[in-house]
Amino acid sequence: MNIKEKKVKLLNRESELEFLPRLTEYLNGPKIYIKRDDEGGRSAGGNKLRKYEYLLGEALEKKCDTIIIVGHFQSNAARELVGVACQLELKSVVISKELIPNQNHIFLKNGNALLMNIMGAKIITINKEDDFEIAMKTIAKNITQEGGKPYIVPFGGSNALGALGYVNCVNEIVKQCEIQAINFPDYIFTATGSGGTQAGLIAGVLKNNKKTKVIGISVLQNRNAAEKGVAKLLYEMFDLVQLPEQSNDIVKIDDEFIGDGYGITTDESIRTIKLVAKLEGIFLCPVYTAKAMTGLITYIKSGKIKKNESVVFIHTGGSPLLYAYYDKLFE
Ligand SMILES: *Cc1c(COP(=O)(O)O)cnc(C)c1O
Repeated sequence: MNIKEKKVKLLNRESELEFLPRLTEYLNGPKIYIKRDDEGGRSAGGNKLRKYEYLLGEALEKKCDTIIIVGHFQSNAARELVGVACQLELKSVVISKELIPNQNHIFLKNGNALLMNIMGAKIITINKEDDFEIAMKTIAKNITQEGGKPYIVPFGGSNALGALGYVNCVNEIVKQCEIQAINFPDYIFTATGSGGTQAGLIAGVLKNNKKTKVIGISVLQNRNAAEKGVAKLLYEMFDLVQLPEQSNDIVKIDDEFIGDGYGITTDESIRTIKLVAKLEGIFLCPVYTAKAMTGLITYIKSGKIKKNESVVFIHTGGSPLLYAYYDKLFE
């Protein structure tokens, strides 16, 4: 069975590619477009759904009945996975540990925590020091002993198979640029966490023979570690997608916008959320897209991207997190 046949349909339409006229004018720089991967699909949507089309396809093909994911009670990846499991009549288990040092009661119970609670998610909390891999294997073993068949989702849905979802995203952008009679962008910006989104975007750009630079704004790891992770995924994708020869410095990640770490807001990221909401009525999320957009705005202001160029910003989702970070945002 080939990979295409394995895929399960979780997105019933292409995400919109929209021009952002007011943000473009405000920055007096390149034309900025946004790919609305925050819209569409069940359980409030987001970038993991493109990956889950392949991963859950594989789980169904293997006749697995319980999907295991690691993360956090505020994880978009976990919330999207629980939603997909409900939709496909599968069980799910979220293994959670403290990845973000925030214990106020809004953070504990609102946002993705609330949505997962509404969907009846099974969340198992382990200690901060405990190893995710070991916890996952133990729980998978328990499921097997009880007669179930577990499927383990890789961290962030990021392995070569999951990353194929973002090759599809680039294929959509190619088509949409043709229809809208605009040039394919000089840059694509994305938030980079586990790296599958960026690896897929780079593979998609290569596959379509474009020269576009894919810039990942890291929200999780330092530049070196993040670039290594994405390069490894890209390498693993070569077996699945026939890609032309790649150059060595194709993975470009900037870690200047993380601030104090994963899930910790910065003054600039909060300002960016408000700026983009006020200009365009678009909501970014405090953990990922606000930092990525802060990166893009900084690149434009410093002249790294020229006025005659164009950018597509991938809106990877995460707006439920706005409610979890209410205390940082409400004036
Ligand atoms: C998971 C996530 C990302 C990061 O994607 P990776 O493929 O893990 O790098 C970006 N934005 C949002 C909203 C996410 O949930």
